[in-house]
Amino acid sequence: MNVRCNFCGHSFSISREFMAEAVPQALEKKQKSVVVECANCRKQVKVPVRQMQRYMPRSAPEEAAE
Ligand SMILES: [Zn+2]
Repeated sequence: MNVRCNFCGHSFSISREFMAEAVPQALEKKQKSVVVECANCRKQVKVPVRQMQRYMPRSAPEEAAE
């Protein structure tokens, strides 16, 4: 999925492999967002977990209705 840095406006993509690791960890810690380092300015960009879940291979429980 593509992420846009709030600081420098740079767009970069996060791999599914990264999300597959980061999302369960965030859920375990009850975090609502995952911190990703911007590839350009190296600042920490917060990406909402819900947004990531939409791109995950396995659907989130709340989306299981489909
Ligand atoms: Zn940046």
